[in-house]
Amino acid sequence: MGTTTAWTNWARTERAWPVRVERPDSVGAVQRLVRAAAGAGLPIKAVGAGHSFTGIAVAPGVLLELDALSGLVRVDRERGRVTLRAGTRLHDIPRLLEPFGLAMPNLGDIDRQSVAGAISTGTHGTGIAFGGIATQVVGVTMVTADGELLTSDAEQESGLLPALALALGALGILVEVTLQCVPAFVLHAVERPESLDELLPTLLDRAAAVDHFEFYWFPHTATALTKTNHRLPGDAPTRPLRPVAKWVDDTLLANGVYRVLCNTGAVAPAIVPRVNRLADRLVGDREFTDRSTRVFTSSRTVRFVEMEYAVPLEHLPTAFARIRALIEERGWRISFPIEVRVAAADELWLSTASGRATGYVAVHRFFREDPGEYFRAVEAIMIELGGRPHWGKLHGRDASSLRGAYPRFDEFVRLRDRLDPGRLFGNRYLARVLGE
Ligand SMILES: Cc1cc2nc3c(=O)[nH]c(=O)nc-3n(C[C@H](O)[C@H](O)[C@H](O)COP(=O)(O)OP(=O)(O)OC[C@H]3O[C@@H](n4cnc5c(N)ncnc54)[C@H](O)[C@@H]3O)c2cc1C
Repeated sequence: MGTTTAWTNWARTERAWPVRVERPDSVGAVQRLVRAAAGAGLPIKAVGAGHSFTGIAVAPGVLLELDALSGLVRVDRERGRVTLRAGTRLHDIPRLLEPFGLAMPNLGDIDRQSVAGAISTGTHGTGIAFGGIATQVVGVTMVTADGELLTSDAEQESGLLPALALALGALGILVEVTLQCVPAFVLHAVERPESLDELLPTLLDRAAAVDHFEFYWFPHTATALTKTNHRLPGDAPTRPLRPVAKWVDDTLLANGVYRVLCNTGAVAPAIVPRVNRLADRLVGDREFTDRSTRVFTSSRTVRFVEMEYAVPLEHLPTAFARIRALIEERGWRISFPIEVRVAAADELWLSTASGRATGYVAVHRFFREDPGEYFRAVEAIMIELGGRPHWGKLHGRDASSLRGAYPRFDEFVRLRDRLDPGRLFGNRYLARVLGE
């Protein structure tokens, strides 16, 4: 049995005092803990790295930490598939895949998350032809509320996979996840500042023309910081950033100096526009070629809060333009950038890209600033454009408003009623977004 100290998420937006913390190291131990929690009338929930901004991972009863349930279970070399224990952190996966010449096809901005946590909230990166991490899932094994194992893959319970692969932690405890990988590859990255006004009219063409495209915009500036990645074969020559240059760019400039600037902006908002123009000069403008994971992900040490909305791809330019106009109209001083990404349509029931090619717009604020008014106003625009909120990032939606946003919402709720009628895996966030 574990301790009862407070749990808090990365962004410090959520806190919980679980009755018990447990660290199972086997599938059997998870089954025993689920049965015991059910017997004691306590809710039970697995947490990953606590990198969700919402209360989705809050475990008021038994909190399961799955760091001891990590690593490789098996590899299907022929089909390029790997089965991982659910607590495996994304940053450990490249090392596990390397001996087999495999890689994950796409990743988000960071790699601190557990594979189960990342897929459960629909974590995604960017790329017009690429889905989020959950679209890489070809099989899962889950401990359900009765303590039994439910496996879903191409051979068994295949119809449930599009629900179980992205299930908000609402259907059970994932213990194994099988990913479809690709041969290891290299990315050629170009990161550079460009004129925002010149980029916007061509945004969708730019995103369609390359493998992975995204941009950041610091409000109060005229510059878009674009990132363009081209995929190259695994044996292509690499030209990585020198370790010192990488540290200077990622840690010192993009994080360390930026933290000081954000702290200053939080107490003196009037200087934010000048700070943002300086931030523009601190980041961007570099070109390198490296193994895929080293290019996709970087570290984020400046703490922030975030809301991200998914809109139909064709509405992406409008969504961005309206947020830009909103910031100008309201005269807010926003120190953190807006991030714009794209993804392919997928078939997962609760994916933000379910059934439609998608554009993502993420708004951020420094964690010491109140995001309320800004995020609410952005959310109103996104709702008008048919937006769906990232499940792990701040938003104000509830089940009644989300139902219309997802064609298979009611089917998911019925599945939840069948698999977890007593809400053993429930918490307040799930009650809000899925219903009691
Ligand atoms: C700095 C930062 C950068 C980020 N960048 C991106 C990005 O680029 N793209 C993006 O889409 N998101 C991004 N996010 C959001 C983040 O990827 C998601 O919130 C993700 O869910 C966090 O994973 P985690 O392991 O921390 O999961 P947690 O937040 O701990 O948990 C998330 C959910 O997964 C469930 N869960 C965890 N383990 C299990 C299990 N074994 N079985 C069942 N359910 C489980 C939890 O119960 C909870 O419901 C970022 C967040 C931060 C803080």
